[in-house]
Amino acid sequence: MTASAKLAELLFPDITKTLEDYETIYPPRVLPKGAKVTRIAPSPTGFMHLGNLFGAMVDERLAHQSGGVFYLRIEDTDQKRKVDGAVELIDEVFKRFGLEFDEGFTLQGDKGAYGPYVQQQRGEIYRCAAKALVAKGMAYPCFCTEEEIADLRGKQTSQGANPGYYGSWALCRNLSFEDVEARVKAGQPFVLRLRSNGNAEHTIKVRDLVKGELEMPENETDVVILKSDGIPTYHFAHVVDDHFMRTTHVVRGEEWLSTFPIHLQLFDAMGWQPPQFIHTAHMMKLDNGNKRKLSKRKDPEFGMEYYDREGFPVEAIIEYLMTVLNSNYEEWRLKNPEASYRDFKFKAEKMSSSGALFDLDKLTDISKNIVARMTADEVYEKVLVWAEKYDPSFYLLLSADPSYAKAILSIGRGGKKPRKDLWLWSKVKDYMDFFYDELFFPAQTYPTHISESDVKKILEQYAGMYNENDDQNLWFDKLKLLASDFGFAAETKEYKNNPTDYKGHVGDIAMILRVAVTGKMVSPDTYAVIQVLGKERVLHRIQVAAQSL
Ligand code: GLU
Repeated sequence: MTASAKLAELLFPDITKTLEDYETIYPPRVLPKGAKVTRIAPSPTGFMHLGNLFGAMVDERLAHQSGGVFYLRIEDTDQKRKVDGAVELIDEVFKRFGLEFDEGFTLQGDKGAYGPYVQQQRGEIYRCAAKALVAKGMAYPCFCTEEEIADLRGKQTSQGANPGYYGSWALCRNLSFEDVEARVKAGQPFVLRLRSNGNAEHTIKVRDLVKGELEMPENETDVVILKSDGIPTYHFAHVVDDHFMRTTHVVRGEEWLSTFPIHLQLFDAMGWQPPQFIHTAHMMKLDNGNKRKLSKRKDPEFGMEYYDREGFPVEAIIEYLMTVLNSNYEEWRLKNPEASYRDFKFKAEKMSSSGALFDLDKLTDISKNIVARMTADEVYEKVLVWAEKYDPSFYLLLSADPSYAKAILSIGRGGKKPRKDLWLWSKVKDYMDFFYDELFFPAQTYPTHISESDVKKILEQYAGMYNENDDQNLWFDKLKLLASDFGFAAETKEYKNNPTDYKGHVGDIAMILRVAVTGKMVSPDTYAVIQVLGKERVLHRIQVAAQSL
């Protein structure tokens, strides 16, 4: 037995499987040529952000467009950051956005043959891979304490050396077997480090599918691959998991670019072919004229919770992100207004390598257009889901009489020029509150050029002539009659030609009615509103309004 093999046995006596065993357990996938295997691998920190969704969309498109596999892995090696309910949140967010995993973690348990898909449950696999590296002489235990590492850093700083555990600074690199054995037997805690054969003076070429070929310094640090509790670091877990889960394309945030050489070195040390990589650029924001990354701390719009709470339609967020993902998407959309975004041919090469500016106005515009195209039934269902979570009393009103709510939401919908004043579910209540007596707030602010006594009389007279069966023309003819009776022009044009001859025009009569029945100067078409409100509500509101003057 070589010294390294002896060391491997000493450190991992419980590991009996070999890498070959795992090669058999997780064989290369049988998939059509060109099929991509992608994964999204969030950490259960309780915070889901735009980057998670953005990456998941790229993964999903790459896999499903190519007849491949898209799976979900939970990266919970950092127990300190783990939060209760975080996996439920991950599940909920991806479901809400319609991202369907072919395999991976689910709340009901793992689905698929390449699991476990939760890193905490993969300890034995990591330890087996680590053991193999030790046996090859490419990893070693390090017993340095935090104080020793701090001391090392201090010396490096004072001598102007690069910081890190490498080369001659790596104190535990060459401990004798006997020394290690004695320490292990004495129960001294240790981490496992890669024995790097790199040299930071050398540059290596790395390939990113979007950024192209990049030159980066080779990794020379003996990075930690297993922490003292035997849990792998991200670097090692990523390499082991993406190998044994047979990932073909890793899509991850560009914060991992700087450690990319470490990952490639680890793949090499293991003797494995690395997958292809796409490092996605961060979304940026203009802040006082300066471009900066969207930040968890400063920008609520970075967190997915914001979009849920505000009630952005998921369709709008997806559509917006597609425009960010591929620059030719908008052109395609113009030609294919009705198509699903999934019909668009997404290309990784068309992704921007620099961070896109996050544009809330554009998202709002997209949202207005998308909501304008929805049927009243669709809007109703979506508002209902939103309200159930964020506005229970509104939810009760909506669900008590679905057909009334849908009639309200039908106003201005479906024609050639649909209304575009809805884009957030959280604003729907403001838009339709006056239809509900429980929310109606009679605000008696009539146009100031009309006297109160005229308003009162007009309302009273209107109540007498109102007939719920009048069509829009007849209804308007009645307003014209009222206008003439009270010294207002029956035609707007007449008024414009001779403004001094009139108190106003027929539009003012319509406005008086609008204010009386809606409490607002701005509302959807008054005739449509009156029709939906129905006879009883209309007459009651008009009478109350007239009496209050
Ligand atoms: N758990 C890592 C993160 O949330 C995943 C990175 C990766 O996709 O490899 O950043």
